Amino acid sequence: MDETAYVGVDIGGTSTRVGLFQSLDSPDFTLIARFPTEQSYEQQLHNIISTVKSSGLEGYAGIGVSVAGRIAKDGRGVIVAPNLSRYVSKPFAQDLSDHFQCPVRLAHDAVCGLLAEKKFGHIRNFDRCAYLTVSTGTGAAFQLSKAQVSLTSSIEIGHQILDGNTRQCLCGQVGCLETFTGGRQIELRYGRSPAHITDSVFWETFSDKLALGLVNLAQLTRIDAVAISGAIALNNAFLLPLLQHKVNGMLRGATLELSLAKLGENAPIVGSAMLLEVPENTILH
Ligand SMILES: [Zn+2]
Repeated sequence: MDETAYVGVDIGGTSTRVGLFQSLDSPDFTLIARFPTEQSYEQQLHNIISTVKSSGLEGYAGIGVSVAGRIAKDGRGVIVAPNLSRYVSKPFAQDLSDHFQCPVRLAHDAVCGLLAEKKFGHIRNFDRCAYLTVSTGTGAAFQLSKAQVSLTSSIEIGHQILDGNTRQCLCGQVGCLETFTGGRQIELRYGRSPAHITDSVFWETFSDKLALGLVNLAQLTRIDAVAISGAIALNNAFLLPLLQHKVNGMLRGATLELSLAKLGENAPIVGSAMLLEVPENTILH
């Protein structure tokens, strides 16, 4: 490793991973640590700093951070994070750049996942595409490009309201898609994680609702392809073809090509490093 290494940090609701990237031209990285995500911002910052320092490098080309939460419009901190509430409004990017004297970038995990898949996955063939994570929550980002101009936006796909849905969402709204598709809400409602649900009626409903959400996304953004990731999608091979079938049955005037994220669970950490080559003003946090 030389001093041009890039650092990628993926902060999930339960665990944090730190990786070193020799180059931004490859998704390959060396995982230097994985540790439980600390609820205390100061402790988490300390753990990230000491982990990065443990690599023994003198300096870094940049640090990119993927966060399971909404990022402030200026990209410098976290503004909404139900699982990381004590990070809210802290000068996260500034604290890291003060310490390492290198560029630091933050983004929502779905934005990072999108950047990674757009560069290395199937959606690289599409100017208008999205990344969807189906996990504890249901999150997404999409990117619209034309010629050399591109714009990437984090969106609240899980909190779109489905007609007739009377379920109360953890976000405070009534009727959100995520009341059917969010791992945490499923666990609260059924008393077990989706990993332990084999009931076909449950999965029919799950995929009906998620397909509706995807058709709405396609119609509202004019995207042509979606890379799908997150534990629920990656661990249930039957879901992708089922979703594609249901989307095809509803969508008219457009097509939407679904595929599993090529980088799987690594998409957010890979994308966190890729942030360092994507201009901040092309990302709507
Ligand atoms: Zn909601």
